[in-house]
Amino acid sequence: MTSTALKPHQKELWGHPIGLYILFFTEMWERFSYYGMRAILVIYMIAKASDENGPGLGWTKVEALQLYGWYVMLVYVISIPGGIIADKMLGQKKTVLLGALILVAGHGTLAIDAPWAFFTGLILIILGVGCLKPNISTMVGGLYRKGDIRRDKGFSIFYIGINLGSLLATSLIGLVVAEWGWHAGFGMAGVAMLFGLLVYLYGQKYIVHVGNKPTLQEKEEDVSLVKIFYKLFSSPFQLGVFIILLGLSIYAGFTFDGVDHWGYGALFIFLSFVVGMLMMIYKSLESQVQKDRFLVLLLSFFIVIVFWGAFEQAGGLMSIYTETKTDRMLFGYLIPTPMFQGLNAGFILLFAVWVANIWAKRKLKGKEASSLFKMAVGTIIMGLGFVFMIFAVRDYDAHGKSAMIWLVLAYFFHTIGELSSSPVSLSFITKLAPVKYASLMMGVYFAATGLGGKVAGILGEKSAVFGDYAIFAGITIFTVAFGLLVISILKPLKRLTHGAEDDEHEMHGENEGFELAEN
Ligand code: GLN
Repeated sequence: MTSTALKPHQKELWGHPIGLYILFFTEMWERFSYYGMRAILVIYMIAKASDENGPGLGWTKVEALQLYGWYVMLVYVISIPGGIIADKMLGQKKTVLLGALILVAGHGTLAIDAPWAFFTGLILIILGVGCLKPNISTMVGGLYRKGDIRRDKGFSIFYIGINLGSLLATSLIGLVVAEWGWHAGFGMAGVAMLFGLLVYLYGQKYIVHVGNKPTLQEKEEDVSLVKIFYKLFSSPFQLGVFIILLGLSIYAGFTFDGVDHWGYGALFIFLSFVVGMLMMIYKSLESQVQKDRFLVLLLSFFIVIVFWGAFEQAGGLMSIYTETKTDRMLFGYLIPTPMFQGLNAGFILLFAVWVANIWAKRKLKGKEASSLFKMAVGTIIMGLGFVFMIFAVRDYDAHGKSAMIWLVLAYFFHTIGELSSSPVSLSFITKLAPVKYASLMMGVYFAATGLGGKVAGILGEKSAVFGDYAIFAGITIFTVAFGLLVISILKPLKRLTHGAEDDEHEMHGENEGFELAEN
């Protein structure tokens, strides 16, 4: 076929389908709005009525951090229903559109200066991200055929879009808030999301072949989730496991205090339903290959929780460490704390292609470069970054302030670890998940990152009891040991993937009329 005869969705640019760039810019604007809003959320909650940027909510730090923790977790946990809506009803493409519309409404609502608008806005953003984030990620996988080696690179490029959005937003939003106040900042996030929506609408012709609604036939063949739950009740063993799980969850959830009491109770009950559902999906899979792949995917989610449980210290303990214990003076200028968080996004832009190339070359040479290996190595590299935080604590103990180079090095290692692990996990899911449950599994993945974020918050709080040194040292030891453990059982784990990654090779110009990897 000559290039002039190609339909828009078959065309490529710089070695990738044009659809990738449409999803890239849509997600860039979505993440711009998400990270821009996130950068001012906590400081808006604790700002007093007399604040120089206009009146804030005047909450205490504990109240603000508590709401923040739940917000960040829910944003990702709602990816599970977001994935189910896509798999069962709308398809990924329409669910992303729905998410984008809800997000424009959510960020727009936050621009209104009224108490009702604050909570309504947050709820809308949680729902919008839940619809958009897992499904747009699954669609990236859908752009590549089974076995196409460009898939991992495609996800790395997509990941650059995410961080470009984050870097732009975190650099700009502070200036907008200082000039025009909090609600202008929230409004800016809304405008950014509107750009994302427009890019997505414009780019439809480049993604006609991905993320479509399940066909009537697929729906008929499909086992509905209700039926899956019905099956749960017809098997005494599984019903027993489910009831024990639910009982433990209710007990564990309701032993927490305060706001957390209801929050954890509801969360644990929700999670036991998710586990029950996953158990029954496993049972409903037809072949042993599908079952094994599903199992290895679930096991890989433990790596995800460990990874994000450590990594997400960035927004919590490391941020407080930066603010209170780090010497931030550079050539007579005091560097604002949020800028250190921008280091992560900046390093990603600089090193994403480099890290992806290193892994791709390794793979072409026939050396070990499976997704599970990359995820384990990424966890180790990220964990080693905390060694620099240990140096920072020692520096602080000796001199009363720690040098900022420790933070720069820690964030550098965290970023290289993230690049080895996070885009790879996204790609891995699109290779292994059963097609019928592709979006749901992406949702479960994001929920795992959200749970990791909650673990990070809890660990951060524990530093008040055990001290920073013990927390940073503990994270280093645990993550490195965990990564090594995964590598030591790599062979049996890989056997469970049944060669899902063995026959990858370059496939230019073949991006036509297919959905996800079939398995
Ligand atoms: N920083 C990445 C993003 O915003 C990953 C977040 C996550 O997986 N929890 O997409």
